[in-house]
Amino acid sequence: MSQTSNESLFARAQKTTPGGVNSPVRAFRSVGGTPRFIERADGPYFWDAEGRRYIDYIGSWGPAIVGHAHPDVIQAVTEAAARGLSFGAPTEAEIEMAEEIIKLVPSIEQIRLVSSGTEATMSALRLARGATKRDKIVKFEGCYHGHGDSLLVKAGSGLLTFGNPTSAGVPEDFAKHTLVLDYNNTAQLEEAFKTSGNEIACVIVEPVAGNMNLVRASDEFLQAMRRLCTEYGAILIFDEVMSGFRVALGGAQELNGIKPDLTALGKVIGGGLPVAAFGGRADIMKHLAPLGGVYQAGTLSGNPVTVAAGMATLKIIQQPGFYQKLGAQTQKLADGLAAAAKAAGVTFAADAVGGMFGLYFAASVPDSYAEVMKGDKESFNRFFHKMLDAGVYFAPSAFEAGFVSAQHDDAVIDATIAAAAKAFAELG
Ligand code: PMP
Repeated sequence: MSQTSNESLFARAQKTTPGGVNSPVRAFRSVGGTPRFIERADGPYFWDAEGRRYIDYIGSWGPAIVGHAHPDVIQAVTEAAARGLSFGAPTEAEIEMAEEIIKLVPSIEQIRLVSSGTEATMSALRLARGATKRDKIVKFEGCYHGHGDSLLVKAGSGLLTFGNPTSAGVPEDFAKHTLVLDYNNTAQLEEAFKTSGNEIACVIVEPVAGNMNLVRASDEFLQAMRRLCTEYGAILIFDEVMSGFRVALGGAQELNGIKPDLTALGKVIGGGLPVAAFGGRADIMKHLAPLGGVYQAGTLSGNPVTVAAGMATLKIIQQPGFYQKLGAQTQKLADGLAAAAKAAGVTFAADAVGGMFGLYFAASVPDSYAEVMKGDKESFNRFFHKMLDAGVYFAPSAFEAGFVSAQHDDAVIDATIAAAAKAFAELG
């Protein structure tokens, strides 16, 4: 075990890497303090460089649904690695992965594997534009779809944490094709289609939003989106990079019974290694190279080691009762935290969908970006640090969802709620 402190590692990291991190939210800018440098993880826990153990509620921001270092996943990865790390030529494992995802997500008829959620959404967007020969896209404020130029407009996740939801470096010429509407505002969506429906290539949405904290889309909103896209010949893209295999085995589209034209996936399908994918209607997917004129490629796409991790994870989550248990544990956490806050007189609400949850320092669960922004960020930050000190690691930002794994058993959830009761009492 290393004897290095988080603080010294952070100081060292900042010399070589902007902000000391390889993805902005990890820097703790929003909550203040020193990021924990992680040495190892197992089940629901990870340990930092100082040897402290934390109950982990980010699960690598979603992928760790079966718990960290699951023996089946580690074995699959080890065996695949021993056969060679990358071939740049097709493998049977990629066919199996495609078949498995197509079996589990019925709206997907054909799929292509990529290496990150950003690539998945970016490629789906290009495909939608190429297939429709239209330029305009519709996205919703507070939804994050990775860091492709057209999608970094009024986005969520780290951008919200840093208070600048549109990135510098995105040319106005790109951004002007992105129409940004309010999440859950059906009337505004109808109006946008009435005005420019024939120019809209696609609508992209997180059907359960997890990058402005957790916000559910209403049925009415999603149904209207489906109807308008069909009516105007626009492509409906569900970005299920986070919600896919997380809120239900078939993703948010299974929960709300809507068939998008294209779906972006990531996180869980790689089981902790870099696998993502986009797929959907075969008549749209056929526009991709080498069949069609929309170019998309990747040196490490369908990599044998990452695909092995993904396949092993997809097998575990299909075990009977997996989602019932995951959903029940997540609900138990949300209910327990809400009850503890109430007992301490702290204004607080919590929500859970499958294995995903939201914590809000607000009187009720928000349904839009504007509502999320009204939450009490200062109280969240104080709560975050009290929990961290007690060995519970929540997302280091008031604008991120949380994640539970199948290894978060009753003892782990109970310990979390007990720590929270103490933290809330100190806040109140
Ligand atoms: N879409 C959604 C809904 C996401 O939550 C994320 C990542 N949090 C992405 C896209 C981008 O994925 P990646 O970070 O793998 O590029």
